[in-house]
Amino acid sequence: MLGTGTSLPDTKRVQSGILVEQGDRSFLFDIGSGVLHRFVETGTDVKTLDSVFISHLHVDHSSDFIALYQTLWLSAFDKILHLYAPPPAREWFRMLNEVIYPYLRGKVNVEVTELKERDIVKTGLLTVMCRKTQHGIMDSRAFRVEQGGRSVVISGDTAPCKEVIELATGADILIHECNWLDGRHSEGVHTSPSQLAEVVRKARPKKLIIVHAFPEVVFNIQKVISTIGADQGTEVVLGEDMMTMVL
Ligand SMILES: [Zn+2]
Ligand SMILES: [Zn+2]
Repeated sequence: MLGTGTSLPDTKRVQSGILVEQGDRSFLFDIGSGVLHRFVETGTDVKTLDSVFISHLHVDHSSDFIALYQTLWLSAFDKILHLYAPPPAREWFRMLNEVIYPYLRGKVNVEVTELKERDIVKTGLLTVMCRKTQHGIMDSRAFRVEQGGRSVVISGDTAPCKEVIELATGADILIHECNWLDGRHSEGVHTSPSQLAEVVRKARPKKLIIVHAFPEVVFNIQKVISTIGADQGTEVVLGEDMMTMVL
């Protein structure tokens, strides 16, 4: 877990980012502000990067991509970097590369794939299944990462939705956002503790890691965990930056 925070700057929780390592390759899932520094903190060489998956093009999930790009250039990264994200990823990357930071144009070989709603990406030994999430007007994806029968599901930003429940069913680990406490909020954007309890009840992952939690969620975490986890048989924990799991 590189970044477990939200859009609010927080020294303990940078914005969204998860590093998956498999053999000598590494994969990033979201790359918000602060994630590149956390990546370096892990001691993993950026040259091992194979792919960056971006759940959606909100700043808190994508803004360090351009910082990564410059880092890869200055590190003489000479492989193809695969970038997977929903539309308009191709135009987003073209604008960054050709209009906003033209000095970076062509410095790193990036292959951009726009993710359809139910794409399956096979990369190395990993299989990454995508589903569309419900996140306001943003086109966004959740990911199920599988290898050898083991699975991690990453919700990205989403209101509770059946696509994520389907993706998370029987997963070893579900990393799910819990942006705000129960109360009056915009419909169809984020998930609250009692909504997340319903997701867990239906999907029954072995473990739930709560991420993308605003300070009031973190402050009330014991209550949040008991709301979500009461009698469900799923271990529920709050994600922390630099937390690691071996599957
Ligand atoms: Zn978002
Ligand atoms: Zn977000």
